[in-house]
Amino acid sequence: MPSIQQNIELVTSQLPKGVRLVAVSKYHPVEKLQEAYDAGQRIFGESRAQELVSKCPQLPDDIEWHFIGHLQTNKARMIMPNVTLIHAIDSIKLLKVVNKEAARIGRTVDTLLQLHVAQETTKSGFTVDELLKAETLRQLDDLDLGNVRIGGLMAMATNTSDHAQVAKEFGIARSTFDALKAGYFAGNDYFKELSMGMSHDWRIAVDQGSTMIRIGTDLFGEREY
Ligand SMILES: *Cc1c(COP(=O)(O)O)cnc(C)c1O
Repeated sequence: MPSIQQNIELVTSQLPKGVRLVAVSKYHPVEKLQEAYDAGQRIFGESRAQELVSKCPQLPDDIEWHFIGHLQTNKARMIMPNVTLIHAIDSIKLLKVVNKEAARIGRTVDTLLQLHVAQETTKSGFTVDELLKAETLRQLDDLDLGNVRIGGLMAMATNTSDHAQVAKEFGIARSTFDALKAGYFAGNDYFKELSMGMSHDWRIAVDQGSTMIRIGTDLFGEREY
């Protein structure tokens, strides 16, 4: 079986310049994260607040911790001291809470807005229409987000073997990202990340212009729930 180091090298050697790898370490023990760290990996993604805060102090402090899952509003406070980037902001309400919690401890936090492009209704996020609508953007203006930076978008494609369908959904995410970057976020240097691509579809995501892929299984093996 290839080592975690070999898995990381296999993925990173195929990434175009400027595309970053988030090692999705949820449900994996800290020993495995340490192994990835020793292989040079510095960005880790977790999807449960408790797990993130318990792993964080056990590992070196130059790690960037990303929260990649659905964040419940009542968990924002818990992760705020440790999190670098929150990938899946799926409502204006969550954005408000994150801003408030960041302000409470006097920091600024980076976030991505989650875009709903998949066919599955179980996946959350803003729709393309919502994000391009003046009304939503006005809501963003009204929020006065002093402690949150919106650094781009995050998207998940439908879980299907239909390559064309996945490419189409990632393509929609890319064009929505481009439209916002040229529009509402024009001149905003922070708005630059498009987080998309998991173990089974990251090559398609990279083809469609992803800047950040989130890989768990292909690096660490199957998760033990
Ligand atoms: C678990 C998870 C991943 C990684 O999934 P793999 O298939 O193990 O690569 C990526 N993104 C999100 C949002 C996840 O929850």
